[in-house]
Amino acid sequence: MIKDREPLIFELSEEGKSGFSIPELDIEEKNYIPEELLREELKGLPEVSEVEIVRHYTALAHYNYSVDEGFYPLGSCTMKYNPKINEKTAGMEGFLLSHPYSPYELVQGNLKLIRTLENILSELTGFPFFTLYPSAGAHGELAGMLMIRKKLELRGNPRKIVLIPDSAHGTNPASSHFAGYDVKEIPSGEEGYLKVETVKEYLNEDVAALMMTNPNTLGVYEREIKEIAEALHENGSYLYMDGANFNALMGYVKPAELGVDVLHLNLHKTFSTPHGGGGPGAGPVGVAKEFEEVLPVPVIKEIDGKYVPDFNRPNSIGKIRSFYGNFGVLIKALTYLLEMGAEGLKKATEFAVLNANYIRENLKDTYELPYKTRTLHEVVFSEDSFKKYGVKTVDIAKRLLDYGIHPPTVYFPLIVHGALMIEPTETESKKTLDTFIETMKKIHKEAENNPELLKEAPHFTPVRRLNEVLAAKKPKLKYKEEEE
Ligand SMILES: *Cc1c(COP(=O)(O)O)cnc(C)c1O
Repeated sequence: MIKDREPLIFELSEEGKSGFSIPELDIEEKNYIPEELLREELKGLPEVSEVEIVRHYTALAHYNYSVDEGFYPLGSCTMKYNPKINEKTAGMEGFLLSHPYSPYELVQGNLKLIRTLENILSELTGFPFFTLYPSAGAHGELAGMLMIRKKLELRGNPRKIVLIPDSAHGTNPASSHFAGYDVKEIPSGEEGYLKVETVKEYLNEDVAALMMTNPNTLGVYEREIKEIAEALHENGSYLYMDGANFNALMGYVKPAELGVDVLHLNLHKTFSTPHGGGGPGAGPVGVAKEFEEVLPVPVIKEIDGKYVPDFNRPNSIGKIRSFYGNFGVLIKALTYLLEMGAEGLKKATEFAVLNANYIRENLKDTYELPYKTRTLHEVVFSEDSFKKYGVKTVDIAKRLLDYGIHPPTVYFPLIVHGALMIEPTETESKKTLDTFIETMKKIHKEAENNPELLKEAPHFTPVRRLNEVLAAKKPKLKYKEEEE
């Protein structure tokens, strides 16, 4: 049974309780920390027994929702099932116990894993070089944009502007800005994909690059990408592709062959690693041949059958991450890739696209589809079919919680009013999709007949509707204000 509210661990605390019992010290106690750095006592730490702490965190876990629990169609996030075999390989002692400061001669296996994964990603995308160090998609974007900047600097002028379509992911402008560029937003147009003619209008000698999410946040494939790449190259600019949604393209499209210069992938989306709640992830970046010199250090080289980290690269953008990145995530991604194999990855793409289109076809007469262009791995509906009942997108999302389903991404992309962005991934069975479709239709009926029910949803979750803005604006980071 779920309690009204699980107490804070501080409220559970009782003086003198302890979560462990170890024998008394039978050797002389020696202190290696300088006296002045030692505290007399630790104030305010909760004191609980082992069973209490286990029950506390288990109770909190029951408040939560996860991919292992049910359908999680969060658009753009690719919440696919993460095979448990990944955890097994990532937990192998040889990997687990290798220290990041180990001399490279002693971690040859780890370095081989890095090279192997780079090679497979190269095969999948067509790029000759990859760096696996970025910790997330957005970090990959930053690394990629810094490489573009460096390359332009070496050519004599870093330029000033990065063009970004209004259908791109929100991290793209942020990353460009961090890399020192001004961002110019360009319209993707009524059909939901960018036209080369539009791009040409914005090209001038200040344009460093165009950053394109493909498939974009509408789930639409950028069908003029080749022509756009050519136009950019003629202008001396580069094409960056945000490939976080590679789940829709694996085995079918090699972005390097489309004229893309720099690309990032999200291992924690496309290649299965648990994510959400902040990581850890990995956002590898693939680059065309001419970018080899600017890759972050160390580049792992294979010399006479030995893997050697190469730091001596004068034009490199430098180090972007301590050690070798989020190594555990790399192990999981490689496990997934080897388990799936080339054919399996193609199948995953096919099912991801099929599942999204199954939902699209079955809901398009109930919910409003603002863009009619064919979509790939996700589908975006607008608020237009239920707004007339006084119901908002957030109400639909909250009501889904009552039916035990995680809501889709809402209010994104911004070019769709009250967007509901649904990405089922390849993981889900027809049965799950049918349940979701029926639930969505039922909720639409409720919106029509009983809008108040939706406006007060969720009704059956441990906590009801929270004030999310207040939590973001005035986070309460302390249990109690310090006593005077
Ligand atoms: C998720 C996502 C990102 C950002 O990735 P993070 O790992 O969250 O930093 C960038 N672009 C697209 C298209 C995404 O879906």
